[in-house]
Amino acid sequence: MSSKKAVKKPETKTKQRCDDCGKPVDMTMQISAPGSKPGAKLCADCFEKRGKKIASEIIRNGRERLSTHVELLPVSLTTEELLARSDRLANIESEISAEDERHAQMKAELKAGMTRLVSERSRLAVIVSQKSEPRNVEVAVYQVPNSHSVEIVRLDFNQIVRTREMTKEELQMVLPLGELGAANSGGDDPAA
Ligand SMILES: [Zn+2]
Repeated sequence: MSSKKAVKKPETKTKQRCDDCGKPVDMTMQISAPGSKPGAKLCADCFEKRGKKIASEIIRNGRERLSTHVELLPVSLTTEELLARSDRLANIESEISAEDERHAQMKAELKAGMTRLVSERSRLAVIVSQKSEPRNVEVAVYQVPNSHSVEIVRLDFNQIVRTREMTKEELQMVLPLGELGAANSGGDDPAA
């Protein structure tokens, strides 16, 4: 191939690399033409190829080129690219599974958060309407005189909360030893 044909701007630096083929050459040429990036430094062969290409494309089958733009079109993969895509395809299945799991977990967390809020709202609504809330209050257990019953008395207001039968342990504390057996087997408050 001729290296003189399309020369526009010879450069004299030694061993530059051609932008198209990467070949080290003594001299590169800059190409400037419509549809070509300005300033590409090419070896003589590539310069000629580009020149021919450009020339052939400005007028193609007798049609004048009006403009250029970019479109998404199928391009064959190199072996390396094909390998990379295949690897990615193999890996993506497990990534999808992991993502699915993450979604399920997040959904569960969101649902738990909502349940917590709804439950707190119900609890507060009751408290506000009753103007009171359950708290731990110290209470005392008193024997009802001449009975096997006790009264549970809250100590903050000295009020009876409820009465109930004595437990075995409480009976042991108040009964003479001889009567304990009868009280245990009888069950219900024989002395009341
Ligand atoms: Zn080249």
